[in-house]
Amino acid sequence: VMPIYDYKCRECGNIWEVEHSISVDDAVEELGLKCPECGSQDIFKYLGKRKSLTVKFIGTGWYINDSALEAAGMPEATRNSPETKKRLFRD
Ligand SMILES: [Zn+2]
Repeated sequence: VMPIYDYKCRECGNIWEVEHSISVDDAVEELGLKCPECGSQDIFKYLGKRKSLTVKFIGTGWYINDSALEAAGMPEATRNSPETKKRLFRD
């Protein structure tokens, strides 16, 4: 499983997630990464928290606050997918 990083675009301010190996030092150079919104390569690894996701532990599984994911721009179908929830909390 590869870690997921947040990247931010200096051109348009877009923040998005990129899954790549921890050994990748410069994703722009090594992977040709660019902003999915505007195509700019003036991007950097964004380490700040964009929004705090409310997470509660219920029974045997993780529950993630849907409104937090919605605010982060994730479509409902994706939010409700078990795959998404599994991916978010693995590792
Ligand atoms: Zn952009």
